[in-house]
Amino acid sequence: MAYELPPLPYPYEALEPYIDAQTMQIHHGKHHGGYVTNLNNAVKDYPELAAKSPEELIRDLSALPEGIRTAVRNNGGGHVNHAMFWQQLKVGVPEPTSGALYDAIVAAFGSMEAMKDAFEKAGLARFGSGWVWLVVNKDGKLEIMSTPNQDNPMMAEYGGLKPILGVDVWEHAYYLKYQNRRADYLKAIWNVVNWDDVAHRFST
Ligand code: MN
Repeated sequence: MAYELPPLPYPYEALEPYIDAQTMQIHHGKHHGGYVTNLNNAVKDYPELAAKSPEELIRDLSALPEGIRTAVRNNGGGHVNHAMFWQQLKVGVPEPTSGALYDAIVAAFGSMEAMKDAFEKAGLARFGSGWVWLVVNKDGKLEIMSTPNQDNPMMAEYGGLKPILGVDVWEHAYYLKYQNRRADYLKAIWNVVNWDDVAHRFST
């Protein structure tokens, strides 16, 4: 198989009490696992595509055969988004108070708090399923955006932007613990953001 489900970089219960172990188990094993299986099925007759990274596949969907474009968009997007998401979660990483990422956040939003507030609002405003992102735009500035389903800002139709923080707002990401309270989930997520990972993505 061309693509593999990456192991979680921590135990299922590592993000308790903010994200519960059962949610992590189902989310990683069943949801992310399903995207990987379906992506492999989509490219199985196209060895030249299966040789590409999942990021390469989703960046330019128009280059793909029409018959697999939607499957790669949904499942390749799902694979890329979740692989990034797991790496971005960790308990106990302090929020930046200086450095290049901090300076860029203050320049774009005024303060860390203002950025978090705008991020939560964008996540709440996403109707149905999708993601909320902190991205680097074409001018090198930070922006917040939201995408539907498993779309990713690196896809050409969003301008090929660089996501440095992505949060899953599909119900499967929070429903067991937070039920319909997406706002509470989005507030809680700040306790488990791995700012070292975000800063690294910003600087590379
Ligand atoms: Mn998900």
